Amino acid sequence: MSFDSLGLNANILDAVTKQGYLVPTPIQQQAIPVVLAGCDLMACAQTGTGKTAAFTLPVLQLLSHNQSPIKGRRPVRALILTPTRELAAQVAENVRDYSQCLKLRSLVVFGGVNINPQMMKLRGGVDILIATPGRLLDLEQKNAVDLSKVEILVLDEADRMLDMGFIHDIRRVLAKLPTKRQNLLFSATFSNEIKLLTNKLLHNPASVEVAPRNTASERIKQSVHFVDKNRKRQLLSYMIGSQNWQQVLVFNRTKHGANHLAEQLNKDGITTAAIHGNKSQGARTRALADFKNGEIRVLVATDIAARGLDIDQLPHVVNYELPNVPEDYVHRIGRTGRADCTGEAISLVCVDEHKLLRDVERLLKCEIPRITIEGYQPDPTIKAAPIQNGRQGRSSTSRPSKKRRVV
Ligand code: AMP
Repeated sequence: MSFDSLGLNANILDAVTKQGYLVPTPIQQQAIPVVLAGCDLMACAQTGTGKTAAFTLPVLQLLSHNQSPIKGRRPVRALILTPTRELAAQVAENVRDYSQCLKLRSLVVFGGVNINPQMMKLRGGVDILIATPGRLLDLEQKNAVDLSKVEILVLDEADRMLDMGFIHDIRRVLAKLPTKRQNLLFSATFSNEIKLLTNKLLHNPASVEVAPRNTASERIKQSVHFVDKNRKRQLLSYMIGSQNWQQVLVFNRTKHGANHLAEQLNKDGITTAAIHGNKSQGARTRALADFKNGEIRVLVATDIAARGLDIDQLPHVVNYELPNVPEDYVHRIGRTGRADCTGEAISLVCVDEHKLLRDVERLLKCEIPRITIEGYQPDPTIKAAPIQNGRQGRSSTSRPSKKRRVV
């Protein structure tokens, strides 16, 4: 199935193409036509399944089709509520990307930052407001936002909102909205509490569900995915979410890279910690304990930091960057599939790393199977650049200096 067949207009399809998406994800295939038809929706989907586009794309289309030439302050017509500031920021970024060819204004508001700039921006008129419940209510109390013209309400990660105790805030927000509106509710789980909320909130909802793909394989499966360097993070988030990986050890070459990636994954809504030589022992122990007991899904590590760690029987290892030393590849993937457990090791390889891959394959004496996820194929026009951090020109079969290996 292609995006063209979902009934989205050309401006939105352009934005989707610019994101590099080729085929809609299962949640997008199911949800987009339902939302375009104006129905209420109850969707069971996790972060990483493409759920943000599943609600944003049709919402943008509905708003741009029914755009009335209102003079003066534009009323908020779509309200997207999220449980956390990070998720609000992430959703807002997606809304901006997807609406780049449309004449719609969006704004994100959340607590912990000065309220005044948010009030100023609201005064200018906003079509789509992405908000955390507490700050939204503060703004409403200050008469900075009028919610009486909201046509579409999206509750994103509704289960997390309830877990975080937002039910009263949500009820207060609902009381400010017009009774006639379209409601879209996204939740990773459907507890009794969520069912109660959906019964109250939704009218004859269509219900869609994407079952997390079962990734358990019969044996350790190695694979290589060629991808552009600047799209690795997006691909990783997508793989973790769409395949519902719960415990992933990710390898980076540098401490800085590990920190940066951990920050970005957290922004994507995937709980992540980084461990490397600059972290205190206490921080490492905590990160490891959280990783083992499932409080964080992803641990980003450098080779040396991971060496001392007692983490066995991992289901997933990702080489976000290939190691400079091919033997390190063997150590890394040895973390998965231990003790007769199944495991998967995927390497994300950009054009700069082709030589490193050849070195690994020479060591293994075999070619690692290639996989491709639609939409993440590398751009063939991008030329290889030397690998940063002083590793340029160094023979990858020689051992780096001790100093360099403390990463
Ligand atoms: P989400 O579940 O909305 O957090 O999306 C997870 C990741 O999947 C984000 O990085 C999106 O950019 C990416 N994504 C969303 N839809 C698609 C698609 N149709 N094809 C490829 N990637 C996608």
